[in-house]
Amino acid sequence: MIESPLLPELKGYIGGDWTGADGGDTLAVHNPANGELLAEVASMGRAETDRAVAAAQAALNEPASLDTRRQWLRDIVQALQDNREELGRILTLEHGKPWKEAQGEVDYAAGFFRYCAEHVDELKPRVLEERPKDCTWTVHFRPAGVAALLTPWNFPIGMIAKKLSAALAADTPSVIKPSSKTPLTMIALFTLLEREVKLPRGKTNLVIGPAGTIGDALCEDPRVTVMSFTGSTGVGKDLIRKTADQVKRLTLELGGNAPFLVFEDADLDAAADNLMANKFRGGGQTCVCSNRILAHRSVSQAFADKVAERANRLKVGDGLEPDTDIGPLIDRNGYQKVRRHVRDAMDKGAERVTGQDPGELENDWGGYHPPTVLRGVTGEMLCAREETFGPLVPIMEFDSEEEAVTMANDTEFGLAAYLFTGSDEVAGRVIPRLHFGHVGHNTGTGPTPEAPFGGMLESGYGREGGLEGLFDFVEVQTVPRGA
Ligand code: NAP
Repeated sequence: MIESPLLPELKGYIGGDWTGADGGDTLAVHNPANGELLAEVASMGRAETDRAVAAAQAALNEPASLDTRRQWLRDIVQALQDNREELGRILTLEHGKPWKEAQGEVDYAAGFFRYCAEHVDELKPRVLEERPKDCTWTVHFRPAGVAALLTPWNFPIGMIAKKLSAALAADTPSVIKPSSKTPLTMIALFTLLEREVKLPRGKTNLVIGPAGTIGDALCEDPRVTVMSFTGSTGVGKDLIRKTADQVKRLTLELGGNAPFLVFEDADLDAAADNLMANKFRGGGQTCVCSNRILAHRSVSQAFADKVAERANRLKVGDGLEPDTDIGPLIDRNGYQKVRRHVRDAMDKGAERVTGQDPGELENDWGGYHPPTVLRGVTGEMLCAREETFGPLVPIMEFDSEEEAVTMANDTEFGLAAYLFTGSDEVAGRVIPRLHFGHVGHNTGTGPTPEAPFGGMLESGYGREGGLEGLFDFVEVQTVPRGA
């Protein structure tokens, strides 16, 4: 079982109090590195969610000044910095990613709170220079009501930081539901919010438990006016349907199927290094991980060899071991999906450059999947159509720029894409034709707090981060004033 000074309670948090489940139910949290039970945390339902929404709504009656909000945000940055090691350890234990990487995620999370602290003045009322209709026009940025914030397991603190930072900047109270697979990092965050930040009661609330019950309660509650969700496209579509009657405002950060294009004039070593950092972060379980590698036929073999050589050096193991590069997949389902994708591709003619045969992995107990590189992948294989969410590098070949663009866009997703080319002309022609919200040009980097990030098409709508994200939890109210 986990022991941590940041986990004095294993409960939700409603109206400023640690709160257990009404019926005493609990849910089990396991360590994906070895299957051990880490904790039994309160598993809440509709009644607790209802009370959390009521607490958030009451907090709307106590508006905070921009200076107060800035101070909260700064205090959170400090609290995260002071506790990065312990937060990172909890995160590694429940998610599996290497401890160093987990601490990097805490830093990433702190960046969102810092950015919002530095830019909260953007939310000051704006008086128009013009005086149309003989009036003075003021644009106010009001709290958007009660926000429901739903987050996935793959970045247990990074994803909530994007949402909570902007919600606090907007003074919009929230009800947070983390993934049942990784609630401990969120509980630890609430410990810090209570101890170090002293937010007013109800300003942010935590409910943990079955997603269907809590999700439905939030969708059906008219007091919840904004819903910000990061997770799979399937659940995102469900939320659109369930909130349509109340015309709730949604921000949806959904799944991806990122192409990584390598043109024949690319610096292959730089492309391979960037692909490694991009692809194997979180064990390949990020929405911005390259899912399809599209290489020009003339460089595809050389590129595959460079990637395989690097992949063979990666150490797979328990994230708490100091030399681990890749941890386990989140659970057995995640592991089986990767295996299924490798099996399907090989059955359809793909060639394994490195990794193990899926048959040999049959009896492996848990979530450790070896980094695997495949060549000769084609568009109808599962790994080209679905997010693999694991350490698989499937390489496809193209012969022309036109074909590269067509293949890259051959997906209903539109989150992230990457291209490597030595030619600015090629990049200038290709980038505007890619239907992805984030396009890395000679870099595999993902989002950063300073820039807006979000998807096109079925990867969702809305943006988090940057100035665009700062406005995610405000309602705009325009007040013309006559003489
Ligand atoms: P998920 O199954 O959709 O779950 C996401 C969150 O929604 C979890 O808290 C989950 O709770 C909850 N949930 C599940 N069913 C729900 C329902 N019917 N109503 C309300 N909430 C519900 O996704 P995941 O497996 O955790 O995360 C992986 C996915 O997230 C991938 O597709 C990835 O690409 C995407 N993602 C996107 C971004 C982005 O920025 N676009 C970032 C990160 C991840 P439980 O865990 O308790 O079931």
